Parts: sequence; structure tokens; C-alpha cells
Amino acid sequence: MTSVLDLFTIGIGPSSSHTVGPMRAARRFVEALRDAEAIERTDRLVVSLYGSLASTGHGHGTDRAILLGLERQTPESVPVDQIPAILNRIRGTKRVTPYPECSIAFDESSDLQFLHAETLSRHSNAMRFDALDAAGRCLLSKTYYSVGGGFIVDDQEEAVEDTAGIRQLPYAFRSGDEMLAMGRQSGLSVSRMTLENENTYRQAEETRARLLAVWKAMRECAERGCHDETVLPGSLMLRRRAPRLYRELTQGDPARRDDPLRILDWVSLWAIAVNEENAAGHRVVTAPTNGAAGIIPAVLHYFVTYLGGGDDDGIVRFLLTAGAIGMLYKQNASISGAEVGCQGEVGVACSMAAGALAEVLGGNVAQVEEAAEIGMEHNLGLTCDPVGGLVQVPCIERNAMGAVKAIQAARLALASDGVHRVSLDKVIATMKQTGADMSSKYKETSHGGLAVNVPQC
Ligand code: SF4
Repeated sequence: MTSVLDLFTIGIGPSSSHTVGPMRAARRFVEALRDAEAIERTDRLVVSLYGSLASTGHGHGTDRAILLGLERQTPESVPVDQIPAILNRIRGTKRVTPYPECSIAFDESSDLQFLHAETLSRHSNAMRFDALDAAGRCLLSKTYYSVGGGFIVDDQEEAVEDTAGIRQLPYAFRSGDEMLAMGRQSGLSVSRMTLENENTYRQAEETRARLLAVWKAMRECAERGCHDETVLPGSLMLRRRAPRLYRELTQGDPARRDDPLRILDWVSLWAIAVNEENAAGHRVVTAPTNGAAGIIPAVLHYFVTYLGGGDDDGIVRFLLTAGAIGMLYKQNASISGAEVGCQGEVGVACSMAAGALAEVLGGNVAQVEEAAEIGMEHNLGLTCDPVGGLVQVPCIERNAMGAVKAIQAARLALASDGVHRVSLDKVIATMKQTGADMSSKYKETSHGGLAVNVPQC
């Protein structure tokens, strides 16, 4: 990953690692099967899920994602309204149809295996795909890992980026310290350096158009979330909170309109509206994960609505800066809840939003770095313990808290001279270490924390 656009993809909820990644892996497998000229001889497919994917896969929609991916649907283009019909057909016929002329047996009850007791050493989010012929012989077998944010790698691929390629970028900063040094030397902002890097991949106009399309998708998602009154899917039968909050803010008691903290209610609303859409499995922007998808849109809405940041330039600069910070986490630590807990999801999104807000409010590179650092420092140790294996409790509310925290982090950094004790690099390293020390109970398995202390009904 070397482009900020990789961190902001338009897909579906509820989970980037458990929904988006597995859908991409399943699609990639059937395409590999065709490339190996084995698909015509394939009689049956078997998919095995390990580790966190097995533990929380049902609640996180991994089962649906695998079925859709085996039909070569993508998170970006799957028609959300038609998903129930597609799933009903597959479950009814017990067959998937990756290509019009090709239908393969896939009985979900026996061919999709949740191996709760097994974890593969490379990553907690592992899945194996096997294609069998009519005699039960294996024609092709592949293992993929969903490493966070919808990214997948297979056993053959190196998890590290193409270092030579990255080094060809004009501002190839791979750490906060390098970002500071290059900013000092060039006199450029974080967003400007990032845009120069993006220009090596495509025309600046295209980058701009794609980032504005990301913002449009974020806006539409928040708008839908403010008005959808349906109960969220899953065992919790959770009523959505965003429509009620929206009504209170727009039609509620006029006496409360003078409350100076009302702006924070709007920030919470935008975060919750997006994350409830995510929990419903609807269209959402991964930013940098689905579980934390509400934070960056909420802070960007705040900037646009209350701080006069409504022009396209400000939005593009915000997303470029947020993306640059997100890449530092992706390259040096993790953005996977299954690997480092929720600090890698909500914590990273908070850090990205804080740095981005500091930049568009006029912060220099040192203040951007400090804002991003503060955004993570106070999320260190944040566990992932979703109740019922669903991306709902604590996730939805946690996005609101993350967004408010990001705004405050930016404000603190802007009020400082940029000199501070804990660097962004130190906090990223600490987050990684804390994640490594964290019990697997708190890494998207629903085996600890709220998940075992809160009754599901
Ligand atoms: S607790 Fe955090 S990391 Fe875990 S599923 Fe929820 S948002 Fe994702």
C-alpha cells in the first residue's frame, strides 16, 4: 500500500477485516481457480475460517461476505439492495455461480467451516479455500489473511511493501520523524507532500476527484443514517440512535439550542449515523477500517459545518493528511482489531482525524504530528470486545467518543508550539507493543471484556 486512496475505499459494512477482506479473498480464489484452468473440473468448494474470523465471523458478516465473494461480487460494486436475494438463491440452491457458465456446489452448513479452536501463526484473520473435484481430490488450495482495513495477502505474498517503489516517491516518509524532517526541509505541508507522492501514481485532478467522491459517499452515508429507523441486524436487536438524536437536534426543545456543547452532539450524531449504517451492512467508506468508519466523516462534517471548511480544497487537504497519518500506522504497526485491539481501529482513526483537522486549521507539520500523537496516546490499550460478535456495542458509541477526542487533540496541538515529549513514532511503537502484549480475548474474538459481561438479550 503506497496511496492514501487505499485507505479510503467505498465498500459495505460491518467490518473491513471480517467482511470486506473475506469477500475480496473469495473472489480472488475463484479467479485463481479459473486462471489455473481448474474451475471446470471443480465440483465443490470448501472454506475454512480461523482465529478471529471464526470467533466473530457470524456477527461480523463473514459468512455473507464469503458467499458474495465466491460469486465474484466486490465490496465496492455489490448492489446492496440485492444482497438478501443473492444470499437466498445461494442458500436455496446450495450452489455458487462465479461465472455465468459455471455453477459449483457450496452447502454453507458443511462447506463453510468456523474453526473456533484453530489459529494460524501468521495472522489471526486467516481463511483457507479448497477446490475439490468430483472424486474429492484437491485441485487448488489457498490461504489468505485479512490484515485490516480490507487488505488481504496470501501465503506467497510478502507482507512488506515494495520498498524500492516507495523510495521513488518525492516525499517517501515512513515515520513521523521523517515526515517532520521532510516538511522542515521542503517547507511543504503534510497534505502537499502527500499530494506530490500521489502525483507519481495519477494526475492530481484524478486524486482530487476520487477524494471528493470519498467525501460524497461519507456525506450520503451520514444522511441515510440520520433517517433510517430500522432495527440493526443481529441478536442485540439494537434500535438506532441517530434518527432520534437528529430529531432532537433539529426539532427539539428550542431552549436547549443555546447549549454551547450542542456542537458536540452534532459530531456524535454524524459518527453514530455512519457507524449504524456500517452495522446495518450498508454502503460505507472504510476509514481506515469499517469499525471506526464514523470518526473521520464526523470530524470532516464538523470542519465543513462549523469552521468554514466547505470548499473542495479543504476537504482534499483533510483527507490527504488523514491518509498520510494512516499509512504510518499501516506500515509501522497495524490497523487490525484482531491484531492489536481497538486502539488499531478507533485509535488510528482518531489519530488520523486529529492530525487532519490540525492541518486544515492552519497547523504546521509539527502541530499535525503532535495532534496525531495525542489522538493515539489516549486510546492506547483500547480493547476490542464486541458484544455478540457484532460491530455495534461498544463500536458505534465509541466512534462518537473517538471523533470528539480527535477534535480536542487537534485543539491542544494547535495551542502548543509543536514541542512535545512523546513523538508520533513513539506512540505508534507503543501501540504495536501494547497490541502484542494484549490477550487474544481482547482482539476481536468476543472472548473477554464487555462481550462476556453484557447479556445479549
Ligand atoms: S471494538 Fe473496535 S476494533 Fe472491535 S469491532 Fe468494535 S470498532 Fe472494531
